[in-house]
This record gives sequence, C-alpha cells and structure tokens, in this order.
Amino acid sequence: MIRKKNLVFLGPPGAGKGTLSAPLMEDEKLAHISTGDILRAEIAAGTELGRSAKSFMDAGKLVPDEVVAGMVGKKLASAECASGFILDGFPRTVAQAGLLEEAMAKIGMKLDGVILFDAPEELLLKRLTARIMCRKCNTGYNKIFCPPKKEGVCDKCGGELYQRSDDSLETAKNRLAVYREQTAPLIEFYRAKGLLFTIDSSLPKQEGYDALRAVLQ
Ligand code: ADP
Ligand code: ZN
Repeated sequence: MIRKKNLVFLGPPGAGKGTLSAPLMEDEKLAHISTGDILRAEIAAGTELGRSAKSFMDAGKLVPDEVVAGMVGKKLASAECASGFILDGFPRTVAQAGLLEEAMAKIGMKLDGVILFDAPEELLLKRLTARIMCRKCNTGYNKIFCPPKKEGVCDKCGGELYQRSDDSLETAKNRLAVYREQTAPLIEFYRAKGLLFTIDSSLPKQEGYDALRAVLQ
C-alpha cells in the first residue's frame, strides 16, 4: 500500500495512464503532470520548444531527456504540486529517473510509489489506433472502448475530438518499441527501490480504477 501521494504512472502508451489519472486527481486532489500534454500544448502554441519536440513525437521517438526533465522540474516546484501529484509519462528513461531524483531532492520531495500499468501489446495497439482526444480539455476517448455520447464532440466541454498524429498504426508500433527498449528498464529500477506496484490495465476503466485504488491508501 502507498500512503502518501507523490506518484509516477509507468507503462506503455495506451495502457490507460491518462485515463485513470483523471478520476484519481479529482478524488485525491492531486496535480497531474503529463509531459505529453505539456509538449502538445507547446506545439499548439507554436513555441520554439514545441517546434523542436514535434519531429521527435511524430516519429514516435523520445524528446531529449534534459528538455522534458526541465519542464517537469518547474512544475514540481509550483504550489499546485505541494499536496501530491501524478507524473504521467515521465520518467521514460533511466537518465530521466536520475534527473527526477535530483530535482525532487533539491526541493525536499520524494516519491511514494510507482504504479506499473501492465497490458498485452495487441490490446495496446487496438486502443491507440482507436483513440481520440479533446482539443480543449485533453479528455481521452476511444472509438471502440469508450466512445463520446455524440460523435466528434467532448462530453465534458463540447470541444472538438481529434486523432493524435502519432496514433497511426506505424507510429504506435514505434512507440511500443521505444517503450520496450528505453522505458521498460525503469521497472527493475523502481522495483529495486521497493517503490513498484503493478496493476492489470487490460481491465475496463472502472475495474482498472478499482485496482488502482486498491494499492493506494
Ligand atoms: P503515450 O503515453 O500515449 O505514448 P504521451 O502523450 O505521454 O503518449 O507522449 C507522446 C510523445 O511525447 C512521446 O511519444 C514522446 O515523443 C513525447 N514525450 C512525452 N513524455 C516524454 C518523456 N518523458 N521523455 C521523452 N519524450 C516524451
Ligand atoms: Zn473537452
């Protein structure tokens, strides 16, 4: 069981990290830091950072460690993270985990737990290629598993739903390979620190959320 609430969500793309972040942040009043969402906001705003990140993202590759670690460090030091946070999609390499430790040590924070979202690859590909999200509020939907009430429109805010350019079959396959090679080593890294808790993320949303609640106190 994890008592305090400084959490990392670790797992392949499509495992449901973002999906289960939404109810947990609401129920526990946690801040949600998604490096993917921050990068997409930079791209939408046309910033220098966004421009340089886009080519990596469209190829399904990782954005350089220092870039994402810098973004996360700033967020962690902000007031919204003081009573707990979910890091969704960061760290994604062992080097990023080291940078995270340094950044947290500087501001007197520590991680309480890392939740590993585990699901088979065929399911992940099915989920990724049917995934759509809201341009305004980033809520995720799925054409097969979790459709919106009205096609193309966000249930929550009425915003337009779109398919991410990196959710094509080819790019999704690349992202899964990048996960296996560069991110999966973090499983042993955090297991060795006694921080790892695994949940079955092939479950539908509500059951997945119950499994998540069961490891949190
Ligand atoms: P998902 O978990 O669905 O793959 P994200 O929205 O977390 O998607 O990430 C989308 C893309 O953003 C990644 O493929 C990568 O290019 C970039 N990205 C996000 N987080 C990181 C990170 N921690 N390190 C490097 N690149 C990242
Ligand atoms: Zn919305």
